[in-house]
Amino acid sequence: MNSSAQNNTTFAERAALLTSRGIPVVPVNAGQKRCTVPDWPKLATTDPDLLNRWPSDSNTAAVCLPGGICVLDADAAGLVARIEQDAGETMPQTFMVKSGGKGFPHIYFTHTERSTALGNRHAQGLFDFQADRKYVVGPGSVLENGGVYEITCDAPIAPIPAWMCDWIESNSEAEKRLSKGTTVPVHPDFDIDALLEHYGLVYDVQGKWYVTDVCPIAGHKHEQSTQTGFYFDGETFGFHCSGGNCAGAGMTVGQVIRKLNDPQESKIRKPYAGPIWKELTESPRSFPYTEGGNAERLVAEHANSFGYLPTIRCGFSMTDGGGSSMLQPRSMQPPRQRFVT
Ligand SMILES: [Zn+2]
Repeated sequence: MNSSAQNNTTFAERAALLTSRGIPVVPVNAGQKRCTVPDWPKLATTDPDLLNRWPSDSNTAAVCLPGGICVLDADAAGLVARIEQDAGETMPQTFMVKSGGKGFPHIYFTHTERSTALGNRHAQGLFDFQADRKYVVGPGSVLENGGVYEITCDAPIAPIPAWMCDWIESNSEAEKRLSKGTTVPVHPDFDIDALLEHYGLVYDVQGKWYVTDVCPIAGHKHEQSTQTGFYFDGETFGFHCSGGNCAGAGMTVGQVIRKLNDPQESKIRKPYAGPIWKELTESPRSFPYTEGGNAERLVAEHANSFGYLPTIRCGFSMTDGGGSSMLQPRSMQPPRQRFVT
């Protein structure tokens, strides 16, 4: 198909290019690469009745999930030739789509045990390997600048060869994961893009990481470190900064947002109004210890009225600022040390 044949299609027609190949789809904002549907990995479907409910000018996202497809998303010219040369192998014919942005290929494969174990991988300026709850924009989608995603090889989707997984593994980094307990469960309608844009943060999505150009705590770029950003895996939210001497190093995401909301820090911006934290199920003065989740929520909502500090033994302790009323997590031992922020 040439671009004019793939252009001017409806969302349903674009989606059918994927669903007919067994690929689940979610809508992407018209003219964009961005899916803003909350919880989109769970909504990905091949059911046309469900897909027909979305706006007909939406672009499509071809969703990569274990048991389904994975996509080698090239970010450099000549990537396939380089892989073939390095590996001394020839890539099997498979379904390929040219990106409407930089024009590099999206190479579709079916998952194998090897690729499932590999998971999402990233190589800066070279490729992303989209494997688990990731997507690529689908064929027929159109960007605002007129760029069209075009099918360049209409072959059946081939299983990813083991040698290609080997090459991907040795030429990329696995996604860094934040350890459990440092991320916080979010509200089902949480929209991380909207939140980061609200705070004026410029970011680059790298897998589950939203790497910020400028450290939101330091207010400038850390020259010695590129590892500053937010983490969002669809269910939990976290923050990491490895900038030397940065006050943000060791901060939880709730503390970062509290700082961003501080009227002394930000004279212009209001606190982000959209939902962030998972709903509290109990009143603020009686809450269970949930790896910091409820504490973060309290900080987000009531940061002006009390402080929060993580403690080593007990998870956290809270004060109302005056020190008169210590909030303690139920079913935990009382803190051995008490902090006031
Ligand atoms: Zn920092």
